[in-house]
Amino acid sequence: MSAGFGTRAIHSAQRPDPTTGAVIPALSLSTTYKQSAAGVHTGFEYSRSGNPNRNNFEEAIADLEGGKYGLAFASGSATTASIVNALQQGAHIISVNDVYGGTYRYFTKVAVHGGIDTTFVNLDDPANIESYFKPNTKLVWLETPTNPTLRIIDIQAIADRAHAHGALLVVDNTFMSPYFQKPLSLGADIVIHSVTKYINGHSDVVMGVAVTSNEEFYQKLAFMQNSLGAVPSAFDCFLARRGLMTLEIRMQRHAENAQAVAEYLETSQYVDEVIYPGLASHPNHELAKRQQTGFGGMISFRVKGTLDNVNKILSNLEHITLAESLGGVESLVEVPAIMTHGAVSPEDRAILGITDTLIRVSIGIENKEDLIADLKQALEKAY
Ligand SMILES: *Cc1c(COP(=O)(O)O)cnc(C)c1O
Repeated sequence: MSAGFGTRAIHSAQRPDPTTGAVIPALSLSTTYKQSAAGVHTGFEYSRSGNPNRNNFEEAIADLEGGKYGLAFASGSATTASIVNALQQGAHIISVNDVYGGTYRYFTKVAVHGGIDTTFVNLDDPANIESYFKPNTKLVWLETPTNPTLRIIDIQAIADRAHAHGALLVVDNTFMSPYFQKPLSLGADIVIHSVTKYINGHSDVVMGVAVTSNEEFYQKLAFMQNSLGAVPSAFDCFLARRGLMTLEIRMQRHAENAQAVAEYLETSQYVDEVIYPGLASHPNHELAKRQQTGFGGMISFRVKGTLDNVNKILSNLEHITLAESLGGVESLVEVPAIMTHGAVSPEDRAILGITDTLIRVSIGIENKEDLIADLKQALEKAY
């Protein structure tokens, strides 16, 4: 029977335990599994190769992304590394230019040693990608919305171009979650998440996942999952599966709160620019409406003044915590130029619009009135 997203987020792959009837699958900490005769087993042999809690999480997230297969990893970064390792030496990747910092670092400082080169391209205009394809281009790598400037890239347009050149498209869907965006339905071949963020949603698990319906790539990536061994613990899979149950209502609330906060910030005399795809003023607002079913919980805004004012704002905040990361139930704030994007060169930061007065907020699921009041008092006391 078909069912809606919220129903599947709760019930997908949740089969009551056949021996106890437990509604929630038990935490399976065993590293190994008894075989009835040599080579005759239940489907589990050794926990790196397969674990019941991991299978349970992988099956559920694959269902929510509309894909056939899910493969979980020890972090979002381990997911990226495993995908790149599934390519052959000499492969070429085209990546969106303002990709997640750790992904940029992996492409430029690690993948190159395996003979894999990456070209970083501005994909605001999808046609821009055409001149960068090479005969050995195997992968196109997208993130949308981008971080921290929240530009929206046209997934379908890039998928069509990648496929015309025989390349697969990977979309990092961390910022939207499958509740607001389903890249596989827009032509992507592989979707990845830093589960650390919205999927787990409670800032207490570091984990990653890839979902695909491409049988051949799935086989290669499953081989990498087992061979590189960057797998998540059973407990992390258990927690992430629990987090997934409330993904729908969390995302709805993140977006409702973010829209209200963004609209408030647009009225503030201390704010020069508010970047939120749900605002009519966002340059890709129409594309966001077409490609996503909501606008998510991330806002970036540029305040008047200098870094000194920014530091005052941050120290005045009472409900919103100064910390890296995003996607948890609690609101977090950070200054990309100094924190998450501090390793990006000043020249590249200037190209990407990451100024010292740009503030990024991951809007949590608190009461929106409290978040707005907190930002209001913090801004007023900082000038
Ligand atoms: C955090 C993040 C990652 C990396 O994930 P980890 O779990 O921290 O390794 C990758 N992509 C995006 C968009 C992220 O926000």
